[in-house]
Amino acid sequence: MAKFGPSGNCDLFYEQGFKTSLDAPKWLKNRGLSAYEYPFSRGFNVSEFVAQTLGEKCKENDITLSVHAPYYINFANPDDEFVEKSFNYIFTSLKYLNIMKGERCVFHPGTCGKLSREEAFELLKKRIKELVKRIYESGIDMSNILLCPETMGKSMQLGTYQEVAELCTYADYLVPTLDFGHINSLLQGKLKTEEDFEEIIKYLIDKIGIDKVKKVHIHFSKIMYGDKGEIKHLTMEDTEYGPEFEPLAKVLKKYDIHPVIISESHGTQAEDANLLKDIYDNTNV
Ligand SMILES: [Zn+2]
Repeated sequence: MAKFGPSGNCDLFYEQGFKTSLDAPKWLKNRGLSAYEYPFSRGFNVSEFVAQTLGEKCKENDITLSVHAPYYINFANPDDEFVEKSFNYIFTSLKYLNIMKGERCVFHPGTCGKLSREEAFELLKKRIKELVKRIYESGIDMSNILLCPETMGKSMQLGTYQEVAELCTYADYLVPTLDFGHINSLLQGKLKTEEDFEEIIKYLIDKIGIDKVKKVHIHFSKIMYGDKGEIKHLTMEDTEYGPEFEPLAKVLKKYDIHPVIISESHGTQAEDANLLKDIYDNTNV
């Protein structure tokens, strides 16, 4: 079964008087959702005690928990000192994920900066191999954890689905985060039909194998884009930019893929996660 949930807490959650993420797991379960992504996007803003309690509440309410590592990560930065910080962000995210008994850690791989795309990608590949080596040396048990590099939406960022697939060949626990809003932004809105989505899934099956594809992490939101890709996250109400979820739901069912699907809609992420789930539940192939 695919699992659906929001990234962080939506406006409605706060409007209903809830103040802490510790109330989120039960709230999500009551809405029929089963996933929650905790954003460390702007840093580690939570104590270990709260993290542990959040994890326990997710277990009690059958919520699959993922974390999003900080946005500051850039494994393509030529400066070795800066890259040490990126390694640390991943290790701290994994530490919290372990405390929370969560299952997935999403991260943004890097940006080109002043380098050519080829140079930046070479550097990125080297650093991800180094990351795999350091994780191995650290002795962290990765058997129940997936580390999920994300497909990115701006042309200067590394993380086309082809680049992410390549990174995911370096270790069993490396599995793509497919952000279809980002992919659509990079493709200037060309992600429309079932065939468009299927082409990506087929590419991934060929490159990393069906077993891994069955576990992919998905971010799904409609995103405004311009010449250089992503501009901002919208809600599922948007009719201009897309992408639409129906054709993807068909492909997921056709290939028997069971992803965790996170809505990153602007302010309505839980409501939109419910909308995605409804579309999925009503899709027949
Ligand atoms: Zn992200």
